[in-house]
This record gives sequence, C-alpha cells and structure tokens, in this order.
Amino acid sequence: NLHTSCRFIRGVGPARAKSLERAGIMTVEDLLFYLPLRYEDRSRFTEITALKPGEPKTIEARIGKAKLVRTRKRGFTILQVSLTDRSGEIRAIWYNQPFLRNILLEGREAAFFGAARVARRGRSELVLENPKFEILSPDDPEKIHTGRVVPIYQRIGPLSPRQIRRILHSVFLALPSRIFDPLPEEVRLRYGLLDRVTAFRNVHFPPGPPQEPYNRGTSPAHRRLVFEEMFLLQSGLAMQKRVRRQTVRGRDYSTTPELRRKLRSILPFRLTLAQRRVLKEIVGDLRKPSPMNRLLQGEVGSGKTIVALLAMLIVIENRYQAALMVPTGILAEQHYLTIKKYLRGKGYRVELLTSSVKGVKRKLILEGIASGMVQMTIGTHSLVQEKVRFRRLGIIVIDEQHKFGVRQRGRFQEGGAFPDTLVMTATPIPRTLTLTVFGDLDLSIIDQLPPGRRPVRTFLREEKDRPSILEYVRREAKRGRQAYIVSPRLEETGRSRLRAARTLMQQLADGPFAGLSIALLHGRMKPEEKEKTMAGFASGRTSILVATTVVEVGIDVPGATIMMIENAERFGLSQLHQLRGRIGRGKVGGVCILLTGEEANPEAQIRLQKLVDSHDGFVISEADLEFRGPGELLGMRQSGVPDLWWARVLRNRDLLEKATEAAFLVFSGNQTDKEGSEGWERYVEERWQRKFGRIQVG
Ligand code: ADP
Ligand code: MG
Repeated sequence: NLHTSCRFIRGVGPARAKSLERAGIMTVEDLLFYLPLRYEDRSRFTEITALKPGEPKTIEARIGKAKLVRTRKRGFTILQVSLTDRSGEIRAIWYNQPFLRNILLEGREAAFFGAARVARRGRSELVLENPKFEILSPDDPEKIHTGRVVPIYQRIGPLSPRQIRRILHSVFLALPSRIFDPLPEEVRLRYGLLDRVTAFRNVHFPPGPPQEPYNRGTSPAHRRLVFEEMFLLQSGLAMQKRVRRQTVRGRDYSTTPELRRKLRSILPFRLTLAQRRVLKEIVGDLRKPSPMNRLLQGEVGSGKTIVALLAMLIVIENRYQAALMVPTGILAEQHYLTIKKYLRGKGYRVELLTSSVKGVKRKLILEGIASGMVQMTIGTHSLVQEKVRFRRLGIIVIDEQHKFGVRQRGRFQEGGAFPDTLVMTATPIPRTLTLTVFGDLDLSIIDQLPPGRRPVRTFLREEKDRPSILEYVRREAKRGRQAYIVSPRLEETGRSRLRAARTLMQQLADGPFAGLSIALLHGRMKPEEKEKTMAGFASGRTSILVATTVVEVGIDVPGATIMMIENAERFGLSQLHQLRGRIGRGKVGGVCILLTGEEANPEAQIRLQKLVDSHDGFVISEADLEFRGPGELLGMRQSGVPDLWWARVLRNRDLLEKATEAAFLVFSGNQTDKEGSEGWERYVEERWQRKFGRIQVG
C-alpha cells in the first residue's frame, strides 16, 4: 500500500526510517517520488582504452595500488589509484579525500563514473579526476546495482545512494500491479500519459537501453509524474477557487455618479489606459456576489498604488473598512504619507499601524479600527499577527506580495467575513510560475508606464572603476541629485556586518563624499530609526543613502536618480531590476551602475549584461529562471518545495499549462461521478496540504 510507513519496507529499520522521515519521506508514496538525480549505464561498461577526454562514461574496473601524495601546501592531499579492466589501465585521482584509501581497497571491483581528462598537456595519457564510484559486491544476484541502467540518488543522511537503490528495489518487489491513480483515466488518455505503476517503475529502474531523456528528466515516466504533481497542485487551487466562487460576500457595492466624481477629484493625474482597464476589472469584481481575489501585476513604477487607493475608496464609500498591508515599515510609512497627501481635506480617517506605533496612540488606533471609525489602516504584518479586530473589513490590499507567504494571506482572510482581496506585485513572475504560485487568483496586468518616463540607463563596471564612479556620484550630488549606494556587504551577519557598515560609511564620509549629507539604512536598525532615515532621504535633506536591499520594495523617492550597486553579481536579476526600479521615477532619467566584485566570474558578466540590455521585467525574470532557478527568483529557498522539483517542472514546462487546463476542467463543477470525485477531492486535499501546504513565497 502506498500509504504504508517506510518503517515496514524490507530493509528499512527504525533507524533508517528516522533518517527518511527527517528528509520528509514518511510513506512508500513519498519514497517513490524521491526520483534519481541521474542514471548510469551499467548495462554496458565502457572499456578503459575507449575513454575519450571530456566524455562522461562509466567503467568497471579492478582497484590496484593506491598512493597518497601530500603536497607542500599544508594539508593538501592527492590520492592516486590505478584502475584496470580487460582492456587496459588508467589512473584515478581524488583531491583532499585521504580517507578514500580505506574504501578503495586493492583487489575490489567498482564502477567509476566521470569524464577523463588528458593527464598532461601534449601527452595522450588520460586520468580520471574525482570520479564518482560505487564498490560492486559480488553478491548481487538480483542485478540491482550493475548490469543495467541504474538510478543514482542523492544521499539521504546516512543512507548511501546504493542503499536507497536497494530499498526502492524492494519496494517494487512488493508493489501491487494496480494502485490508486490520482490522475483520472480520461485525463491520462487525453494527454497520452503512462499509468502510475509503470511510471514509478521506469523512473527508478529504466527499462531497456539508456536514453538521454531520463537524465534530462523528460522521459515519459518523468513527464507522467511531473504532470501528476502539477495536476495535483492545480486541482487544489481550482478547488479553492470553486469554494470562493460559491461563497457569498453578502455586501453590495454601488458606484454612483456622485462617487465617481468624488474619486476623480482626488486623482492628481490622468490614469493610463492600463490603469483604467485594471480598475474596471476590479470594480467588476466588487460588483459580483463572491469575494474578489485578484493579483495585480505591474512593472515597478507602473502606478499600482493609485489603483489600489481607488478600489479602497469605493469600498469605504460603501461604509466598509479597508486595510493595506505591506512588507516593511518603511513602505507602510511611505504609503501612509502618499495617501494622506492625496486625501487631504477629503475627510477620510486613515491610520498607520506598524510596530513603531506604540502606547496610547496604538491603543486609540486599535479602538478606532474595532469601532469602525478608522476607515483605512496601513500597516505591516502586524495587521494580521496581532489582535487587530475590524468592525466591517471590506477590502484587503496586499502590496509587494512576493514578500508574503501564501499562508499569511490565508490567515488574514480568516479574520474577516470574506473581505475582497487585491494582491499586488512588481515581481514579473513568468506566466508558468504565476499559475503555480498564485493560481487561485484572477490576474490583472498594468503593462504601461505613466507618460514621460525615461528608462534608466544601466552600466556594468568593475571594482577598479570605483573611484571614478564615486567621483561621479559626488559631482551629481553637489548638483542636488540624490543617490542610493546599495551594498550586500552590509548584510553580512552579526557584528562583522555592523563593523562593515560603519567602516564603509566612515570611508565615504571622510573621502569621496566629504561635505555631503549621507545616511545609512539597513535591516537591523530599529523601525523608528529606519523611518526617520528614510524620511530624511525622501525630503531631500539627505543626498546619499547607503543601504542594503531594504530599499528594494516599493520605495518611491522621485528625487533619487542614481544608484550604484556593489557586488552586483551576488544578486538575482529580478532583484536588481527591482532595485533599479527605485530610480528614474521623476522627470530626470536615472543612472544605474552595476559594480562587480573581484570574485565575480565571467558568467556573472553575461548574466548582468541582460540588465543593461533589457528593461522588460518579464524578459529579465525569464533570464533569472535560466540562470538561477525558480527558488532564487521567488525567494523560495526555504519554501519546503525542493529546487529539484521546480527544476523538473521547468524542464517540462509545456506540461504545466496542460495540467492546469485539465485540473480546471475536472474541477469546474459539473462532474458526473459524484461519489468518485468526492474521494478524489479528499485525496487532493490531503496530499496538497502535505506537499504544497508549506509553500511560502519570500
Ligand atoms: P508601483 O506600481 O511601482 O507601486 P507607484 O504606484 O509607486 O508605482 O507609482 C510610481 C509613481 O508614478 C508615483 O510617483 C506615482 O505618483 C506616479 N504615477 C502613477 N500613475 C501615474 C499616472 N497615470 N500619471 C502620472 N504619474 C503617475
Ligand atoms: Mg508600489
């Protein structure tokens, strides 16, 4: 049975089960989804004499004499082992792993995998450098580890790839030939997918001669399993969406001509066409009986704030409350000031609720929220985490959603009686990923910048150019321009970071920026200090802001036109694009200088060049996806969804849309087999919770 605990598998005792559990593998099904990293063809070993430089191959060889060489550099070792097969002999070497001497014992047979290289230039002798290996024991009657294409797994704690292989092999011996298949048969047939047992079998122990698609993760077996996971994820989302559609909000919003006139009087500029279109979509949602759940995606500076403000005002005018939640105190403060400015003299009660609002003031605001007197509350996650009770919460706007977890979003909603939700993000998530991360949301896109914007000019420079860049910044600052200097050095941990920050500031203040007003902003500062520093910069009193990436999200200081980013190679492209979005917001075009550090490799240069060449957030995020993988892109490193999973999904990107289509088809509501589908839904819920329940974006 697939739900059997791993403990009961032959060859897995309590200790091994513990190790598996620690890796999140509880059941047989989990184990079956632990896919091999790669495959080795051990059905035909390559003969040593047939090895060619640069081609990864597997050989089967007898281990000969080993020699451990210590180089003059202290502690550096080279282990040399001679390997022989029928055809000849080759030398294998391992650096700094002297302990291998006790494993690679003379006379043993082993499989070695790796690419040979020429031992010395101009000679024909080859050498294997750090090859992967597996000792072949003579007692392998089942031919699990050799004589076939074998799966190579990533080690799980103390469990070696070989042990994992054996465990999986015994799983298949006990596996019934028919198991519950979460893919409905019609879906399987429609998309020509393998049945589940076959897919599991083949993915772990590929039949027949080796095929490249297996190593690429695009074999029919892989595709079937990837499809299943995508289908599962999408089914969960579709189910959520269906529940939402069936929910009745119980409020009726009207937009009278009078209200429209009032809103227009607040607008300081004409909305762009894109803003108007999106606003219309939002108003359409507000008129429906079910609550809104919409994602508003728009390039940095495209003007999402004003759209959100208008939506909130419509709700407020209908006598409900609005909440705007943002990821940082700085951003909350900024939104608060901007919105206060727009609404000056209009008689709305707007309050700011961040962790730096304390004491009596906080108490009064909380009371105002509870009584319904406070119409709009702008705050950080303190809006959800504390006991903030709204009297009649009608709409929640979440800005810069990529910094919030999906779960957090959920918690907020549980608080009110089905409030409308508008989620905003400037992260141009590739469409494929939008579906997986925000799949239960309807999508609106602002694909147009306000008129008169000039693109930021971007330059790629090296460490040696630093003095001349600083000189440039100084000259511009003297002319009244403002600049950001973003440094990842300020983000190093603990005390060393503080020292780094202070040193950097001192160097700048004493040297290139002597006589200019400069300030420091980093994540470890107290909220009040941060807000004060930011206010100084926004007002123009401070010319140069030396900062960490805390300025990345949403900051809008039109006077700032220059940004220098140190060690740009350490950031993802999308993140740099966000940072760059902070400048060039006014009438003067911005200048962004990407400075690469000394350790930056040539690949980094190629990557960063993308930013010089493009201003299209979607193009940039696609590039990010190629270079760094989605984990980086979405800041989901600790999400609980392994990168490998994403990697597999992305290599089969075409399946994503099919799986989405299929899931939404199945879950659109008009099923014929009512009973069967209920069992199915339970299955989806259970597995979804386990697999994706932990997805946290940012
Ligand atoms: P983002 O979408 O990045 O949150 P903001 O809402 O902060 O962008 O808007 C960026 C800037 O553009 C703000 O200074 C805002 O006042 C200005 N802006 C927004 N919409 C328009 C418009 N239609 N015409 C002119 N300026 C606009
Ligand atoms: Mg914004």
